[in-house]
Amino acid sequence: MTVDRTGRFWRSIDRRAMELPRCGACGRFHFYPRPVCPECWSDDLDWRPVSGRGTVWSYTVVRFAHGAHEGWKTRVPYVVALIELEEGVRMMGNVVDCPVEAVRSGMAVELDYREYEDGLIPVFVPAG
Ligand SMILES: [Zn+2]
Repeated sequence: MTVDRTGRFWRSIDRRAMELPRCGACGRFHFYPRPVCPECWSDDLDWRPVSGRGTVWSYTVVRFAHGAHEGWKTRVPYVVALIELEEGVRMMGNVVDCPVEAVRSGMAVELDYREYEDGLIPVFVPAG
């Protein structure tokens, strides 16, 4: 049996209003979606909108996009970062709309969305 745990996430992305799973027992968000809360193991989970505010926790600059879709090969160099959201979860994402040299750990970023070959995806831009 296949369980669709990420459909709700991608539907929220399509509405440009990211939602993440939140535990009703301990109140913590988590990502990626799981059948139970990774903090307290409760299955009392709901989906809530996130603020979109976060900071760069760590990152790398991709200068050679081997194996990626053709579109990514034309975008090098680009940043792949681990973003820590205000809600306490970390997720991978591109940092866009700034030179790759400007990205730093601890940098404040905001959620945004970009249309690429595979559809709309979440990205992060320098805050305010
Ligand atoms: Zn919990």
